[in-house]
Amino acid sequence: MTTFTLPVIMALAELVGALLFVALRRGPRQTLLTCFGLGFALCIVIIDVIPDATEDYLPGWIVLAAGVAVGAALMFRSGARGAAVGNTGAIAGMGLHNICEGIVLAAAGPAISPLIFAAAVAHKLPEGMVVFSLADRLSIGKRWILAGALSLLIPLGTQITVPEDIQKPVLAFAAGVLAMALVKALAVMVASGRPIDAGASRGTITAAAAGGAVLAGMTCLVI
Ligand SMILES: [Zn+2]
Repeated sequence: MTTFTLPVIMALAELVGALLFVALRRGPRQTLLTCFGLGFALCIVIIDVIPDATEDYLPGWIVLAAGVAVGAALMFRSGARGAAVGNTGAIAGMGLHNICEGIVLAAAGPAISPLIFAAAVAHKLPEGMVVFSLADRLSIGKRWILAGALSLLIPLGTQITVPEDIQKPVLAFAAGVLAMALVKALAVMVASGRPIDAGASRGTITAAAAGGAVLAGMTCLVI
């Protein structure tokens, strides 16, 4: 096992998640999978990204609040253009999260158990789906380039050191924008009636999102 084994597994799992998302095409299963992924990612922001950004850094909470305010303004008030900017911010947030995962993995060392392996895969599959669904304004080719670039940030993160006084505020701000983008995506999904048209009930959608959140909690306990 080298330091790269787990980061590379996680990068591949993220791409497989994106592939699953594409393979399902539009329809009830892709819709439910998207809700699952969004619930997952929202939980990750709350139990993983925000603690990362605010641990030993009290101003992080203020920066986070600013990120939430900017995210809300972009996603809910300024129309399609604002939403596009918000989604770009959210994808950047996912990218930062990947760098942080790389940094954490480098600090944790090269040991892998079957449990860590399973948690790493279960963690990255939904994140790959979320990146793909957030980038739905782009052509399919560009979405793949983006997914590839984001997944590379995990092994890259093991090699770089970002000074904490830059890393934490940027991460806190991105977490705020990311949280709002995910909430908006979930709200749109539920309000649009698209899942209902596709044959899924509101209960099933909620259950999918809640299931994603529970899985997120479990993978975060391990990794
Ligand atoms: Zn993650």
